[in-house]
Amino acid sequence: MTSEYTQDDLLPLSGIQHFLFCRRQWALIHVEQQWKENALTAEGRIMHKRADDPFFTETRNGIVTARSVPVASYRLGLSGVCDVVEFISSSDGVRLLNRDGLYLPTPIEYKRGKEKHDHSDETQLCAQAMCLEEMLSTPIPQGYLYYGETRHRVEIEFTPELRTLVQDMSAEMHNYFSRGYTPKVKTHKGCRSCSLADVCLPVLQGKVIAASRYIKQQIDNE
Ligand code: SF4
Repeated sequence: MTSEYTQDDLLPLSGIQHFLFCRRQWALIHVEQQWKENALTAEGRIMHKRADDPFFTETRNGIVTARSVPVASYRLGLSGVCDVVEFISSSDGVRLLNRDGLYLPTPIEYKRGKEKHDHSDETQLCAQAMCLEEMLSTPIPQGYLYYGETRHRVEIEFTPELRTLVQDMSAEMHNYFSRGYTPKVKTHKGCRSCSLADVCLPVLQGKVIAASRYIKQQIDNE
């Protein structure tokens, strides 16, 4: 696979989990640039803030821990920030500046709540790993998801299937973005906890109104 995208084309990597949850939600955020915050997203942000300690690295037991690591892939057309990357001493690893030996990068993503039944968290983590692989020219076989509610680390293997899902989702996101396409509403059980449900609501009620017009009307009415 060759580089397909330029710096200007890169889409936020974190959007891949929104896209898997609901393509319409992703398009409202990234194509129409609407964002409404509810309790769930606020809580998630606070957890992220704890992991998000810029430029901080520490070394313990041969593991170099780097936080808030910016990553990008010009093959996938995605960029973002890894919560934590652990560089573990390994003969399969890469050299690090001003350090002896070789280190294998392992991404770790912090999540609010507990393990989900869908593949959104794994897919986001795998996208981070694929960015790191492209940047560091080294294969990364696995990473970890850390769940705040259960205080539990789950090992995620970056299988060929998961990698294909990341490639397919990023290609589809770029397709929607270049067309400026927002899918029509299609309700599912995730709608109950959706942070954009009230933006979606006029459509759910059957009124033909664009989400962006709805927001403008709300602002005008205040
Ligand atoms: S309310 Fe449902 S359909 Fe609308 S954006 Fe949210 S999850 Fe998607």
